[in-house]
Amino acid sequence: MSKTFKFRGVILLSGGLDSILAAHILNDMGVDLIAVNFTSPFHPRSTEGEINPARLTARRLSIVFRQVELGHDIIDIIKDPPHGYGKNLNPCIDCRIRQLEIAKKIMQEERGSIITTGEVLGQRPMSQNRNSLEIIEKTAGVKRVLLRPLSARLLPVTEAEKEGQIDRTKLFAMEGRQRKEQFRLAEKFNINEGDYLPAAGGCRLTNKEYAVKIRDLKEHDNLNMVNVRLANKGRHFRFTKNFKLIVGRDEKENILLQNLAPEDALIITPAVLPGPLAVGIGDFTRKELLQAASVCAYYTDKKSKNEIKFKYCRGPNKGNIDAHPIRREEIEGFRIA
Ligand code: SF4
Repeated sequence: MSKTFKFRGVILLSGGLDSILAAHILNDMGVDLIAVNFTSPFHPRSTEGEINPARLTARRLSIVFRQVELGHDIIDIIKDPPHGYGKNLNPCIDCRIRQLEIAKKIMQEERGSIITTGEVLGQRPMSQNRNSLEIIEKTAGVKRVLLRPLSARLLPVTEAEKEGQIDRTKLFAMEGRQRKEQFRLAEKFNINEGDYLPAAGGCRLTNKEYAVKIRDLKEHDNLNMVNVRLANKGRHFRFTKNFKLIVGRDEKENILLQNLAPEDALIITPAVLPGPLAVGIGDFTRKELLQAASVCAYYTDKKSKNEIKFKYCRGPNKGNIDAHPIRREEIEGFRIA
C-alpha cells in the first residue's frame, strides 16, 4: 500500500544514530521526507566509497536521497569562522548554519514546509547548547521551521506543531550526552549498531591530529580543496613557509598521492631501492629538494647508511638526486603530522 503524506520536509541525514532516528520519527508521522546528506573531504565515510548508512536509511524508508558536496563551503568557513572553532578546527556553528541554508533552499525548491535534524539539546558542547541552537536557526533563517524531534519538547514550538501538522506529544525531550533514550528508540525502530555511523566516526575536523595538518595549511595560506584531500594521506613535513612534503606510508598511499598531486607538484620516487613516493607542494630550492630526498631516504624499505638515489620531476623538469637518510632528531623538526 502506498504511503499518504501530509506534507513535505527536508531532513539533514548524516548517517549518525540521531539523524536516523529523526528520519524514522518524521517518516512515521507521514512527512514526505527528502534526505540531504552532506559530503566533504572531511567526511571520510561519505566520500570514500564505504557503505553510507544515510543512503541505506533512505532506501529503507523509501525516501528521496540527495548528496550535497560541502567541501568548498567548509574550507571558506575554516579560514575565518564568525562563531569560532570547537575543541579542534571544527567551526561547527557556522558549518551548521551553512548546511541549514542549503537545506532551506532545497525545501523551498521542493515546496516543503519543514526542515528536520537529529540534534539533541546539550549533546555537543559547542553547537548543541540552547544558545547555539538559537543562533544557528536564526542566522540560517529557519526559525520555527526547523524541527528537532529528539529534543522538540524542550524547545520552542515550531510552525508545523502550531498548525497541527506535527503532534508535539509524539516528539521527545532528550537532553545531554547520555544516549540511553536514543538506544531505546533505536530498538523500537529496529535500528542495529551496524546501521549507523559510530559517534566519533564523522567529521575529521574534530580530530586533534588531523586538525594540526589543516591548521598548518591555513596558517600558510595553502587551504584549498587539493591540499585538504592530500592532508588525508601520508606523513606531512614542512621545510619552509612556501614548501611542504607529503610522504606515502605504503604502496596504496603512494598511488593515491600521485593521483591527488596537482600538476605543479614536485614528485620524488625511488630510483633503485623500494621506497615511498613523495609529493612536494610549493616553491623549493636545491636545499629543500635535498632535504625532501633525505626524508624519503629515511623511509626507504631497506635501511642504508649510504646515499640513496631518487628520481624527481616537476612538470617537464626531471632529474636524479642522491641523499643520505635524514637523522631521526632532525626529521622531527620538520614533521607536521
Ligand atoms: S562536526 Fe564537522 S561537519 Fe559537523 S558541524 Fe562540525 S565542522 Fe561541520
